[in-house]
Amino acid sequence: MNIYENTLAKIKKLADLLIKIGHDKTKVEELLKILSFPQRIIKVFIPLKRDNGELEIFEGYRVQHNNFLGPYKGGIRYFPEVNEDEIKTLALLMTLKCSLASLPLGGAKGGIKVDPKNLSEAELERLSREYVRKIYDFIGPDKDIPAPDVNTNSKIMDWMVNEYIKITQINADKNKLLATFTGKSIENGGIEGREEATGKGGEIVLNKLIEKMNLNKNELTVAIQGFGNVGYNVAKFLYKNGYKIIALSDSKGGIYSEKGFNPELVMECKKERGMISGCYCVGSVCDSRLGKDITNEEILELDVDVLIPAAVENVINKDNAHKVKAKIILEMANNPITEEADEILNQRGIIVVPDILANAGGVIVSYFEMLQNIENRKWNKEEVFQKLEEYLSQAFDKVWETSQKYQISLRNSALLMALDRLLKNFK
Ligand code: NAD
Repeated sequence: MNIYENTLAKIKKLADLLIKIGHDKTKVEELLKILSFPQRIIKVFIPLKRDNGELEIFEGYRVQHNNFLGPYKGGIRYFPEVNEDEIKTLALLMTLKCSLASLPLGGAKGGIKVDPKNLSEAELERLSREYVRKIYDFIGPDKDIPAPDVNTNSKIMDWMVNEYIKITQINADKNKLLATFTGKSIENGGIEGREEATGKGGEIVLNKLIEKMNLNKNELTVAIQGFGNVGYNVAKFLYKNGYKIIALSDSKGGIYSEKGFNPELVMECKKERGMISGCYCVGSVCDSRLGKDITNEEILELDVDVLIPAAVENVINKDNAHKVKAKIILEMANNPITEEADEILNQRGIIVVPDILANAGGVIVSYFEMLQNIENRKWNKEEVFQKLEEYLSQAFDKVWETSQKYQISLRNSALLMALDRLLKNFK
């Protein structure tokens, strides 16, 4: 089974339960059939003139999975392994995520098969603008609203929205056009807190869970794989909240200290050294005696209370699922656990907070950014985080109560609630 079919299999298993909670059998079957296919797959070939004058062609995608609930919404990633199957799967997850979060948005995802580390800044800008020229007809505030994801950021969103406005500005309201992309810089119509939003959302969801489980955050140890936008920000918020972050990693490897790291200092050190290795920053000091290096495999198998995959897909699979020692896994990355591994973890009683709930903070605040642009007003960070907490608390409570009521995993409960809302909007 490929990764898309794998993810579909997870939702198809819920058909009986959807009927049990009152949905019509034919409607359930029809919806599941419709969700099995994205509504549109846009594949583009993007020419890029390299700085040395050579022309190179890059493969890109925008997959628009479903728009029953509103315009398509989803990030754009730049990654050497980008492929149609992966982007389709991530677009399907966006449909489910937006539904679970009660947003008036559908699901999409985009990507370019490229390693941005091999491009100069000028090349990256030309590639980003050219991608927009290839897909501009299919996007817009009422059609499809892209955002940042792996290896893309506010600077890239600024280039993209600028290119989009250049192409389409005839008779259009500029503020509304800004809402075509979210995750923009503040100076360019972005919203306060968007960069931290996914990490902040992870903290909100974890706090809710441990409250239900009667655990004390000051006694919990945490390991986080991935130290980019999501991994760094969730680490920062959890640390400030009293959790002990005993392991962190990026693509080159990880660090461990039983004393617990200060993520902000680790980030400063990483920026200086170019890697996280050796950045043993505890309290207010970084010292080589305070920690040790570990591998990205070892971090997943540490004896911690909370494990947070915040990097790439499929890192927990049938080969290592039985070695995981964490009691709770908070899926901040999309699809970090394979279907087989999910079953093993479930049988072992490990609580998995699914991606469509744990990392929904990003898309929720992206929605606020769209509203801010369309309604031409400004929210401050406090308002943003307060509203984010309202949305996520509501989603969490729904998922928790349903999982208790039907004695199902948090993943099945989250998927069930997402499908329930889609069914209610499916004519
Ligand atoms: P990012 O590019 O900012 O950071 C990715 C991090 O993962 C980097 O630290 C990188 O070094 C590390 N990494 C890459 N490959 C790795 C590997 N094989 N092992 C360990 N670490 C590795 O990306 P991001 O925006 O932080 O996204 C991370 C995950 O979160 C992705 O799955 C993404 O889809 C998901 N996500 C992101 C957002 C968002 O708002 N950015 C929202 C929801 C979900």
